[in-house]
Amino acid sequence: MPSVLAPQTEDGKAESLDAGARIGACMVKAGLLSERDLQYALRVREKMGKDYPLTRVLQELGKLDDEKLRKVQKQSCLSLPLGDMLVELGHLKPQELRAASAMLKTPEWQGRQLAELLVAQQMIPEHVLLKVMADKLGYPVVQLNEHEVDKSLLDQVSLEWCRRHQVMPVKNTEEGVQVAFADPADKGVLQAAEVAFDRQISPAIVSRQSLEKFFTRYEREAKKEGKSASASGKVDTHETTLLVNRLISDAISKDASDVHIEPMKDYVRIRVRCDGMLMQDRELSKDALPGITGRLKVMAKADIAERRRHQGGGFKFEDKKSGLECDVRVSFYNTIFGEKIVLRLLTRKASMLDVADVGMAPRMLQRFIDDALEIPSGVILITGPTGSGKTTTLYGCVNYLNDSEHAIITAEDPVEYVIEGIAQCSLNAKIDLTFEESLRHMVRQDPDVIVLGEVRDRFSAEAAIQAALTGHKVLTTFHTEDSIGGLLRLINMNIETFLISSTVVSVLAQRLLRRVCPHCAETYRPTVRDLQRLRVRASDLAGADFKQGKGCHHCHYTGYSGRVGVFELLVLNEPVKDAILNCKTSLEIRRISVETSGLITLVEDGIAKAAKGQTSIQEVLRHLPRLSPPRSLEDIFRLAGVPE
Ligand SMILES: [Zn+2]
Repeated sequence: MPSVLAPQTEDGKAESLDAGARIGACMVKAGLLSERDLQYALRVREKMGKDYPLTRVLQELGKLDDEKLRKVQKQSCLSLPLGDMLVELGHLKPQELRAASAMLKTPEWQGRQLAELLVAQQMIPEHVLLKVMADKLGYPVVQLNEHEVDKSLLDQVSLEWCRRHQVMPVKNTEEGVQVAFADPADKGVLQAAEVAFDRQISPAIVSRQSLEKFFTRYEREAKKEGKSASASGKVDTHETTLLVNRLISDAISKDASDVHIEPMKDYVRIRVRCDGMLMQDRELSKDALPGITGRLKVMAKADIAERRRHQGGGFKFEDKKSGLECDVRVSFYNTIFGEKIVLRLLTRKASMLDVADVGMAPRMLQRFIDDALEIPSGVILITGPTGSGKTTTLYGCVNYLNDSEHAIITAEDPVEYVIEGIAQCSLNAKIDLTFEESLRHMVRQDPDVIVLGEVRDRFSAEAAIQAALTGHKVLTTFHTEDSIGGLLRLINMNIETFLISSTVVSVLAQRLLRRVCPHCAETYRPTVRDLQRLRVRASDLAGADFKQGKGCHHCHYTGYSGRVGVFELLVLNEPVKDAILNCKTSLEIRRISVETSGLITLVEDGIAKAAKGQTSIQEVLRHLPRLSPPRSLEDIFRLAGVPE
């Protein structure tokens, strides 16, 4: 007797099991049918013709009832495509399925689901389809009863969002938020819901028809209520306050740095910036915007009546959920669809970072301390674009130097962290507390260390160099691509090269790359294209253990969680100073630095960190300048003092 698991087709080739045989095999496995009965049923079916459903044969033989059929559909071993299942259950003829599959490939239906097409083409009644899907997936079918739908859940997303994804949140349950899906087999929508509610989702099934009915009714009522509300000039301020608090509180819990509230044509989009990347958070109905804007203006002490000019402000927010206190800076920017609001969140939980913890490789850190921080006078530049973490490193350095023997004074725009024991000043152009003014007075304060928030122009650069010439240690940040770029920028500001070479001690360039999520990290093999773009050979990367996150609940399906610093430290030695004095080209200065000063480039440090699985190759390629081909991993590890 041939085994049922490997049937032979007429032409003798082994073929994967047809739907009927798969259901049969699954029933045998689940103990719902004997192997002998199955063989008999298969022989009967052969006589009836290939298209005759095996389940019908079994039913006619009295071997299968509705109860058993439901059981077998839930078996995990039965992973039949929906179409095959419908045919096998006799709801659809094989030729109808073939026609539907062909239709799905036409432009009109491309990218849409079989279930939707079958109902739209009236090939199957929707209630029958839902029942099959419910049995197959083990989810309940729900009717959207107006009294049972929790409207506060709907506020967390928006009607537009529900309509676009063809879903409806129903209620909070112990297993999570129950969400009804028109197509529960669509994994993408399931994930979108998980992200939107930031909770486990307990899926249910609902018909498109009843979804649409619910949407229309809900909209009509909202419109009616909206009209009466505006007629009496009453906005539910309590609801708005709760909504604004929840927006901020949710952002804090995601460790976001910014919240964007963006009016679009028909809705309000909320996005949050986490680990430097902007992410879709939720959508709100456009009706919510005036309330939110008004509430935030009150909180930020901005002018409520002013709707046509850009404004700014700020407030302190106490997060009841986490107990954290957070400074919020608000900016209102007038767009054609209304005021776009950006909230910058400065949480105070970020405890002062030690310079040893910013993420420099061991040997690089030692050199930075010995040859830069511990040098009595000179300029230390920390460079990178906005959001590269240079302010954090700057504070780490200040923290390192902050002891009873050093007088430290700062001019910042504005002070971002308060550090005990040093004199910090927030610049304020409104009252003429400018950079020039502060600098003039700073040097009279007998400081050892001067910290300038940022060098922006020739004036501040010259001031920093002057202070260093008079025996001070000067720390400042600069906005350039890499370390050599920092020196060139000074040269291009027409500052004498001998002043640069005699005062600048070191330039530290940095970036923040996203850290691979530890919960879903998988081994990653660099592709040929990766190698080409990195300008390395596979043999240069020997010993690497690259990782990539595949996305999970912990990292909101981004594959990343937190960030890791990448650094390029240039310590100005004699050959480099000479090169600057002689106005060598940037290429030349770079070559000399790499060859004589032990410089590890940003991309090399990035590759080393990716090779340790801390960040991904994609992050390295996306964010780091690739000016010269990197050295082999072995060389980089040796130079950086990283144990292999
Ligand atoms: Zn993850």
